[in-house]
Amino acid sequence: MDKEQLLSGRDWIFESNEILVLTGAGLSTASGIPDFRGPQGVWTKDPDAEKLSDIRYYVSDARIRKKAWRSRRDSPVWEATPGIGHRAIAAFERTEKIHTLVTQNIDGLHQMAGSSPDRVIEIHGTIREVACLECTYRAPMKEALERLESGEEDPACPACNGILKSATVSFGQSLIPEDLARAERAACACDLLLAVGSTLSVYPVAGLVPMAKERGAKIIIVNAEPTAMDDLADAALFGDLNELLPALLNWNPEVSDTE
Ligand code: NAD
Repeated sequence: MDKEQLLSGRDWIFESNEILVLTGAGLSTASGIPDFRGPQGVWTKDPDAEKLSDIRYYVSDARIRKKAWRSRRDSPVWEATPGIGHRAIAAFERTEKIHTLVTQNIDGLHQMAGSSPDRVIEIHGTIREVACLECTYRAPMKEALERLESGEEDPACPACNGILKSATVSFGQSLIPEDLARAERAACACDLLLAVGSTLSVYPVAGLVPMAKERGAKIIIVNAEPTAMDDLADAALFGDLNELLPALLNWNPEVSDTE
């Protein structure tokens, strides 16, 4: 860990009042949910797995849909609990410095750790609900997984018989315009952007970093490996976020979250 960058980062965080936190899949690896692009990532190990997150394959190929439903059923998300990173951010929120928390994660672990749902933008949606691709039907994922349990392999929308999918934003799908607009407003208004556990290579979310930088915000990046936005960083801390975040946010994981 670069001690000088860590100390500068701490100072900037101390001086900031409108922080935008941007999180990625690296935050949840400690909770047993693999990332996509890291060295142990799902896509790194099986490039074919990328098709499960691509809307073009999903709508055109029933085989991919069945595989996607099995993957949702078997997802480690259902057993996962928040890790040190989620808890550190939730504890830090009590300082009132976090204005907005934009997460690319679909696992709901920020809210489970205690981050205020009002501040969290799940910019790529949530696996905890399903949405119909053809009508406005939306329901808890649990109901669809129960249908899978009883033998359906590709449960259709109960309202219109259309294609049902987790309420996540797949590649090839547009983000919810209101969510993106809110995230962009936060990037324009923040005085510091803290990006954690992301390759910062998925757009339009990655674009929040240059947007914040152009308006004078400090940029701090915490990740295990270099990211696409390191050139813009005022401090780039490379290593395990479960050690770096507590040090950066001055939080002790041994102390109970309610203290
Ligand atoms: P990514 O998979 O592209 O990259 C994750 C990064 O985190 C990698 O650079 C990896 O090296 C790093 N990392 C992993 N464990 C770490 C640790 N303990 N400490 C520090 N760094 C660590 O992630 P991304 O950029 O967030 O990918 C975006 C897409 O992946 C999103 O669309 C998101 O929806 C999806 N995704 C979500 C989840 C989830 O909800 N938990 C899991 C996998 C993928």
